[in-house]
Amino acid sequence: MISFPYQTQTAIEFAVDLFRQSKHVVVLTGAGISTPSGIPDFRSTGTGLWSSDEPMEVASLSTFRTAPERFFDWFRPLASQIFDAQPNSVHSALTGLENAGHIDSIITQNIDNLHQKAGSKNVIEMHGTMQTLTCTHCYQQAKTEHYLASFVEKGEIPHCPICDQILKPDVILFGEQLPQTAWFKAQRAARQCDLMLVAGSSLEVLPVAGLPMQALDQGAHLLIINNTQTYLNVRADVAILEDVAVIIPAIVERVLNG
Ligand SMILES: [Zn+2]
Repeated sequence: MISFPYQTQTAIEFAVDLFRQSKHVVVLTGAGISTPSGIPDFRSTGTGLWSSDEPMEVASLSTFRTAPERFFDWFRPLASQIFDAQPNSVHSALTGLENAGHIDSIITQNIDNLHQKAGSKNVIEMHGTMQTLTCTHCYQQAKTEHYLASFVEKGEIPHCPICDQILKPDVILFGEQLPQTAWFKAQRAARQCDLMLVAGSSLEVLPVAGLPMQALDQGAHLLIINNTQTYLNVRADVAILEDVAVIIPAIVERVLNG
């Protein structure tokens, strides 16, 4: 087992106790748990592929509607990187907790399907998924895997098999509303939990960033593990400002094996 500095070790013990005392745990995950799988953080500027353009502008619904080829040009180098990514130790640890009955659901801001690839079942995707595409004209849905190779290799923009209009990835773009069903489910989960774990999210994107506040308002405990501060660290029972990929497996190991 890894040994941690005294302060971190104490925080880990406290987190383990919270898990043991809680009956309804909900986890909220963000980009920080996917970076160890090689997916660059959408919002850290100046790093990796995301810096080539301004995501807020090019990954917006209005750009998609007015100049879809610009959106697809920007998305092309990212598509297979996200689609082919593999889950890491955080995803596996959370799946282990879910399988052992310690987690009710995982609310995620990620679009990479990595929780499901790791075997998690009850995943609420707040920002959609890259697994499917939907026709902008007739709403026919299609699987991304059928279009990925020709798009990545030749830059062919995916078109609807029924009406030949452009297919839009089922990810929530800037300026686009959150999927209503997912949003209602997430709010219910936040209000009914007695512990919320925020993992790898800096809680900057509304409305999802407000979910831990809803949990706190209902008397839930809050545990935040993220390598940067969030607006709720001051309200958390425990906030660990460290690498999720190190801390979460250490906590889960203790919760599952005593
Ligand atoms: Zn169509």
